[in-house]
Amino acid sequence: MPTEVELVLDSKAILGEGPLWDPDAKVLWWVNIFAGELHRFDPQSENDDVFQIGEAVGTVVLQRSGGVALALENGFASFDPGTQTLKRLADPESHISTNRFNDGKCDPKGRFWAGTMSKVEDPGHGILYSLDGDGKVKKHVQDISVSNGIVWSSDSKTMYYIDSPTKRIDAFDYDLESGEISNRRTAVKVEDGLGFPDGMAIDVEDKLWVGMWGGSQVIRYDPLSGSILSQIPVPSAHVTACAFGGEDLHDLYITTARDRMTSEQLQEQPHAGGLFRARVPVKGTLFESFNA
Ligand code: ZN
Repeated sequence: MPTEVELVLDSKAILGEGPLWDPDAKVLWWVNIFAGELHRFDPQSENDDVFQIGEAVGTVVLQRSGGVALALENGFASFDPGTQTLKRLADPESHISTNRFNDGKCDPKGRFWAGTMSKVEDPGHGILYSLDGDGKVKKHVQDISVSNGIVWSSDSKTMYYIDSPTKRIDAFDYDLESGEISNRRTAVKVEDGLGFPDGMAIDVEDKLWVGMWGGSQVIRYDPLSGSILSQIPVPSAHVTACAFGGEDLHDLYITTARDRMTSEQLQEQPHAGGLFRARVPVKGTLFESFNA
């Protein structure tokens, strides 16, 4: 029997993305990229607070000193939801107005990794960066088209990364001390017909849960064999990302998008762009917070 998915918020987001569970506040942060919106969803009250950031928001992570950090159209910033104050941290592409930041997450030491992409998806224009808590930016991978999911294995020795049009999940050796990557290779080759890999999360068994753009599903992959372990159908064609949450980290929150759907598709999938949730048998892991 397939895992059932429930709609928890009929948000009709153009490009819902970047879900992230806050275990202290017990809320789910997520973003609506093109709308420039940061969202905070409380599953208990079903209340969804919206913060207008004023430019495209690629992703959100928690910040250890409080508040959140964002990868925006114009670089990295921290944001205090209490005072609604945005503080710019770094803008490595201030000279490139045609790019914006997209997805990103923190490594086990709290370095904030995020990649850029062309706003009109010109291939190969993006770069994957990391930002240290002290404000230092490093450039890691060039020639990226649509920078997306990024997670680390439980032993911190492997980083998994998605550049969506490649239809691959790549693995890198990870040096946790230096924050440097090496030995890029393909971990998963996505077969045709399943959609494009987008955002991802990792569970306690080091398996990858991947939102499939154009694939109406989340797929759980074994990154060591490259094979599919399970599939969760989602009633929205463009599944963008997922994150584990809830008290026991068995709730998989799933973001979706209405972007680039025909009116016919939107009629068939009225809850496209919604926030969904599935109870999954495997325990997930939390995303790391930014070390600043
Ligand atoms: Zn994405």
